[in-house]
Amino acid sequence: MNQVEETYIMIKPDGVQRGLVGEIISRFEKKGFKLIGLKMYQCPQELAEEHYKDLSSKSFYQKLIEYITSGPVVCMAWEGVGVVASSRNLIGATDPLQAEPGTIRGDLAVQTGRNVVHGSDSPDNGKREIGLWFKEGEICQWTPAQAPWLR
Ligand code: ADP
Ligand code: MG
Repeated sequence: MNQVEETYIMIKPDGVQRGLVGEIISRFEKKGFKLIGLKMYQCPQELAEEHYKDLSSKSFYQKLIEYITSGPVVCMAWEGVGVVASSRNLIGATDPLQAEPGTIRGDLAVQTGRNVVHGSDSPDNGKREIGLWFKEGEICQWTPAQAPWLR
């Protein structure tokens, strides 16, 4: 929990279509996490299936794959101390009607099948998913400057 971790956060097609990209990114920025990867992407079927392979036996799996491939998504990698669990808290419960007010899903969504954002559920899955969605060279490790614009 007190270790620097990386997590994969994705704004799903409904979040893009509804114009929620800036709102969602700003919640992670304001929290204090570091953005180390960002791109817009039309997800191919195979990648959606690989990403959600643990859910392949679920009744909603086909609909989930259709949803994720229905339009462009915004792929992000975020770094920070405890970023995996904290991001899940910022995102809120899977069912937006159960998600607490103040969370992304609690504030911005109503349907489980259209819950606007994904977040990795463990540090291992954070690494796995960043590796799936980003190529080498698309992740930027950077050090915050010491406010040189104030000098
Ligand atoms: P989370 O995204 O909160 O980690 P899960 O990993 O359990 O949730 O499920 C992955 C995604 O599958 C959910 O975010 C949601 O988009 C979809 N999903 C989960 N359960 C259902 C359901 N009962 N009906 C439709 N879609 C679902
Ligand atoms: Mg999950």
